[in-house]
Amino acid sequence: MGISVFTEIFIFVLGLCIGSFLNVCIYRLPRELSIVKPVFSFCPHCKKTIEWYDNIPLLSFLFLKGKCRFCGEKISVRYFLVELLTGIVFLFTFVKFGLSFLFLKYIFLFVFCILVSFIDIDYHAIPGWICILGIFTAVAMSLVKTGQLISHRGLLDVSFSSLPVVHSIKGLLLGIGLSYSLKIAGDFGLWIYLSLKKQETIEGEKESLGLGDVDFLGMVGAFLGWKLSFLTFFLAPVVSLVYGVYIIAFKKSHLIAYLPFLSLACFISAFWGDKIIKLILPF
Ligand SMILES: [Zn+2]
Repeated sequence: MGISVFTEIFIFVLGLCIGSFLNVCIYRLPRELSIVKPVFSFCPHCKKTIEWYDNIPLLSFLFLKGKCRFCGEKISVRYFLVELLTGIVFLFTFVKFGLSFLFLKYIFLFVFCILVSFIDIDYHAIPGWICILGIFTAVAMSLVKTGQLISHRGLLDVSFSSLPVVHSIKGLLLGIGLSYSLKIAGDFGLWIYLSLKKQETIEGEKESLGLGDVDFLGMVGAFLGWKLSFLTFFLAPVVSLVYGVYIIAFKKSHLIAYLPFLSLACFISAFWGDKIIKLILPF
């Protein structure tokens, strides 16, 4: 077995473990529970502490056949899927970018994406501070990169606009600016629609985009720059189209959690965004 296969397995397993931690965060953060206390997870049904050997990513779920060891209550298959998804995302990102600064940056971004997506699926809202934390992470990383660039080339030889931190803050401002303007336009359209139909809300909603979506695009901008943040914004409806048609045709509720689609679009933008932009705007 070569070194690289060994590294790939290591990265995949690391992703599984982070996925396991994300499961804890997805469960506890919206309930305002501490993510460090208690250290060990507990069964949401019987509240018994889950021992370490019942908490091994993927394997424990299979061994326990998806049931709690103590009370036999079913464990949601989602715990398994979040771990697997995180492992696969880690592996893909490593294969594409190698062990590099970009790898680290994208991993942080994707971890935030997975976190907010699953909270959004459960609650149709996310705690506002998560994307703010993501924005701080992105700007902090761009500062590190800026420091490296300046120490490498000397302060006088780098132009201000080419600094990573300028790129990041521009992305943040334009990402938030664009999505917020479209939210205002969308809310206005929705308001006209509701006034014409003489309804107060559509299934309890009166907003087109939530503020969570606006923060999210600001975060994507801070990580990837404004171009890829815009691309993410316009790709998300395309990505959600199939599911949207399904839900309108077969389900009673027309509400969909939008952050999973924004996240998927963000993943596509990070991996292939530059190529897609060249295809659309070849000049
Ligand atoms: Zn139990």
